[in-house]
Amino acid sequence: MRNLSKSKLIAFRQCPKRLWLEIHRPELREDSAATQASFAVGNTVGNIARQLYDPQGKGVLLDAQRDGFDAVFKRSAELLSSDQPIFEAGYAIEGALAFADVMLPVWEKGKKVWRMVEVKSSTGVKDYHRDDTAIQAYIARKAGVPLASIALAHIDSEWVYPGRGDYRGLLKECELTDEAFSRTDEVAEIIASAQKVAAKKAEPKIVTGDQCGTPFACGFFDYCQAQEPQAKYPVHWLPRIQSSALREYIDANPALDLRDTPDDLLNPLQQRVKLHTLSGATFFDEQGAVAELEVHTLPAYFLDFETIQFAVPIWKGTRPYQQIPFQFSLHRLGRTGKLEAQAFLDLSGNDPSRCFAEALVEVCGKSGPVYVYNAGFEGARISELAERFSRLATALRAIKERLVDLHPITKANYYHPSQCGSWSIKAVLPAIAPDLSYEELDGVQNGGMAMEAYLEAIHPDTSDERKAEIERQLLAYCGLDTFAMVRLWQFLSGRHDLKL
Ligand code: SF4
Repeated sequence: MRNLSKSKLIAFRQCPKRLWLEIHRPELREDSAATQASFAVGNTVGNIARQLYDPQGKGVLLDAQRDGFDAVFKRSAELLSSDQPIFEAGYAIEGALAFADVMLPVWEKGKKVWRMVEVKSSTGVKDYHRDDTAIQAYIARKAGVPLASIALAHIDSEWVYPGRGDYRGLLKECELTDEAFSRTDEVAEIIASAQKVAAKKAEPKIVTGDQCGTPFACGFFDYCQAQEPQAKYPVHWLPRIQSSALREYIDANPALDLRDTPDDLLNPLQQRVKLHTLSGATFFDEQGAVAELEVHTLPAYFLDFETIQFAVPIWKGTRPYQQIPFQFSLHRLGRTGKLEAQAFLDLSGNDPSRCFAEALVEVCGKSGPVYVYNAGFEGARISELAERFSRLATALRAIKERLVDLHPITKANYYHPSQCGSWSIKAVLPAIAPDLSYEELDGVQNGGMAMEAYLEAIHPDTSDERKAEIERQLLAYCGLDTFAMVRLWQFLSGRHDLKL
């Protein structure tokens, strides 16, 4: 029998095939950039947790990668007689092993026992965290640890960083002792079932489905999907599948093609996607689009933000995971058709928020529509800036009042088969302005890449030359976002008289 780690047991809970592949075909796994980024976030939160649970630095940090599993199991057992916090202590039983983020000695009725804390970078307790703590507690107790309690510490998204490296309050504990201790039989069953799957010679026959993205994006998805028949017109192109009848129908027919989807299960927008995707004909309600846009006169502004977020805030006055805008692009289209571009980008590494807000107020003028694509995002960021900077609040709220969202106008009036059911600006642009392309941009081509580029640019080790290159790429990317909106507006409003 092999010893399954806690992460393998959690993989089994997600999907037995995932566990089997993790063991027998690990080379097939391809973690997305988002998954890899989440590992890095977990490490950062783990480092802060060690400071918080051991402010005097008296604890012991074990390292199984460096010292080997057996050495860590032995040392972890020895340290149970000490009075020090232990980090990454390892425990093994027949068939399973686990490492505890934090072990704290506590005294109950004159006897030393231990409190275990699992640290997560999420902002709340999720179902798989409950499995995680139950498995963790089971293994530790079976291995002989006098465990008195177990808690899960997650990030408190309401906490505001006071600065000076003071992260007290960042983590919020949720007590899970009773629940974890009561699941002993269930965990034993999970381990036994996982062992049976791990011992199989052939991989389990399981088709892709909702489990592939919950609770984690599975790194074997491409492999699994390639084993399945591919729909020519995948049913996931249908927008916003909310009807339970449609969901049940799709779940019962995993390789479903749009052609086989009954019309009576589809709402009008889904029927439009089906009809125009299959026929190859574009849908364009030109009059409807013009009517929605002609109420907004020129001059008009076209605005787009880029933001960054940190699980562990680095700037005073900000919250964990707060979206902090560091860049905007703005195009101003005058009454005569004159187009002017403006931009703000702060790569200093300091909190860009105040300068961003000041620059925004300066370039947006006092009147005229401010077009955005998905107004909720820019609107929320403007509201947050108004809350933080009272002197600018009135002007910022006035800008928010002027936001006009091109996304619902596009969605209501236009669909090209090449959009494959998406109205993201990157899906719409090739249809209405094929001369513009994100793929031809050098370096930064999407929001995720913009975040990565920003982090690289503010890193102290980044050279001035590289920083200048990133600056160029970010300005080109964000500028294309707003110029794309200008062209989309022109297309929808029928203002082909303007030379843009
Ligand atoms: S991609 Fe889906 S079906 Fe394949 S192993 Fe992962 S969770 Fe299981």
